Amino acid sequence: MNEDLKPQLITISLVVSDDGVEDERFGTTKLAKEVTDKIQSLIDEYELSVEWISTSYNQLPSIKSARCENCGAWTTDSMSNEKVGASYYLLNAGTLYEGRLLCDLCLPEDHPLYF
Ligand SMILES: [Zn+2]
Repeated sequence: MNEDLKPQLITISLVVSDDGVEDERFGTTKLAKEVTDKIQSLIDEYELSVEWISTSYNQLPSIKSARCENCGAWTTDSMSNEKVGASYYLLNAGTLYEGRLLCDLCLPEDHPLYF
């Protein structure tokens, strides 16, 4: 192992819209498959030594994630007790406040998740 190389975690989250038709061969939409393939091409092109790669695909809104009811930003209710995949934490970390899902910027300033 080369000690000069420093591990980096690069996380990319995209919320995109298309026709949403899933390709059963891949379990994703055609667009999600194309994006994943392009990332793999970049890894190959730059001959990156990738130790871990994880991709996920989820339809929105979901059980825990929807648009902030104040500003419209895609937000996850990060204080929910619902057990769902970690990918949902790649959206804005908000929560329910007085029955409304709010992002971290729209929560009151004294809320622990306010940013
Ligand atoms: Zn908001």
